[in-house]
Amino acid sequence: MRKIILALVVTTFANLAQAQGNLLSQKVSALSFYQLPYNYSELEPVIDALTVEIHYSRHHRSYFQNFVKIAEELKISDLTFNEMFGKVSSYPAGIRNNGGGYFNHVLYWEILKPGNRKNISKSLSDAIIRDFGSVDNMINQVNDASLKRFGSGWAWVVVGNSGKLMVCSTPNQDNPLMDVSDVKGVPIVGVDVWEHAYYLKYQNKRAEYVKNFWELVNWEVVSALYEEAILQK
Ligand code: MN
Repeated sequence: MRKIILALVVTTFANLAQAQGNLLSQKVSALSFYQLPYNYSELEPVIDALTVEIHYSRHHRSYFQNFVKIAEELKISDLTFNEMFGKVSSYPAGIRNNGGGYFNHVLYWEILKPGNRKNISKSLSDAIIRDFGSVDNMINQVNDASLKRFGSGWAWVVVGNSGKLMVCSTPNQDNPLMDVSDVKGVPIVGVDVWEHAYYLKYQNKRAEYVKNFWELVNWEVVSALYEEAILQK
């Protein structure tokens, strides 16, 4: 029995880490559009089904399609996301906007996976306490960064090069893996604060959306992303 449980845990963590760890090292030429691992209605009542449907099947898909097309035209489909983001300023804006748009949304959907949302790993919990004092302090900093982002963009929790956790925000579809980002690191939480992520239900009340967002966050997934990010250091 114990063995079975252990196998399940190992498999689950491997799958979780796959979403980002593998995506970072995946070549554009090998990409297929991300499969949402739940139904549109499963994020209700925090995020309504229609918003999830439009966000995933139109916005996310169009970033993907545009990205693959532009990468092919530029003949950079052999690059991995990691390589591409690291020198994104040397490519046309279409790569930054659509490559970022594709990648950022994979992270967003992954960390909102329905499931056990309470389990935060010991190592992530220790790191949060070390760098923020408490989980609540970290969440408050992310919320603050979300509200200060003028217009469209993202707020992030990232693992910096030294392993330190940091909160930051980027405009549009930029992310902290990009050479253009002020704060650099591997993102483990990303809050989409584009209006398309919340407007149908929340209208202009971004603060309410961001506050409720945390009810959906799957800390098991975030912990797995943290472990993966630390392993890569
Ligand atoms: Mn979005």
